Amino acid sequence: MIRIRNLTKVYTSASGTVKALDGINLDIEKGDIFGIIGLSGAGKSTLLRCINLLEKPTSGSIEIDGVEMTGLSPKELKEMRKKIGMIFQHFNLLSSRTVWGNVAFPLEIAGFDRKTINEKVENLLNLVGLSDKAKSFPSQLSGGQKQRVGIARALACDPKVLLCDEATSALDPETTFSILKLLKDINEKLGITMVVVTHEMNVIKQICNKVAVIEKSRVVEQGTTFEIFSRP
Ligand code: ADP
Ligand code: ADP
Repeated sequence: MIRIRNLTKVYTSASGTVKALDGINLDIEKGDIFGIIGLSGAGKSTLLRCINLLEKPTSGSIEIDGVEMTGLSPKELKEMRKKIGMIFQHFNLLSSRTVWGNVAFPLEIAGFDRKTINEKVENLLNLVGLSDKAKSFPSQLSGGQKQRVGIARALACDPKVLLCDEATSALDPETTFSILKLLKDINEKLGITMVVVTHEMNVIKQICNKVAVIEKSRVVEQGTTFEIFSRP
């Protein structure tokens, strides 16, 4: 589903250059919950943001569902981005919109008609267990509820891939457990491939079937979660 070859990202700024990714190779298969773990500054977030071209790779190849992502026209990229949902550590909800309005937002941008939007939002809120909060604003929700809105919004356009950037790092252990369980249920129910960036081993152990360990801009280990964590 996602094939990354020799991916390199160099940031250039006034203070110099940083090689955030150095020759990354990854194969993520359809239906995987693929964990990317490493210390702060290792390059995890950059890698995730390169997958949907929020960051432009310096060199290398990223293929998603058979389509090479580097070198797409803006129009083609917009189409491909519909296949890729993303959730964030700090949820990134629109504070002026209700729960309903946040989930409807990507559907409005995509140009769906009102009836389809209503149906889809209702189904999505049901899926994440927030039907009774449709009229609430983000400031009236707990962290876990905010992330449920983030998940519903990310799934709105029926993506094939969901990118999760430290999605539970701002949550307490109990809430983390329930959000991870929701992600696993969605993976099983809808078959969506997930890429989960985290610095927490427990997140990997709870939901990821495969994992890559990133250290100083490089993948240093890659395999099934069982293989990687049962090595002496
Ligand atoms: P992680 O997600 O593992 O914490 P990041 O991908 O955020 O790592 O960062 C990897 C490296 O790239 C770090 O050295 C970081 O300081 C640098 N970096 C990240 N984003 C930028 C940016 N926009 N400009 C310059 N350097 C950056
Ligand atoms: P958690 O169980 O994640 O710690 P909170 O203690 O933040 O959740 O919230 C518990 C309940 O109170 C939730 O159902 C949430 O919707 C509601 N709630 C939290 N903050 C507010 C608020 N500012 N206004 C209205 N309801 C709120």
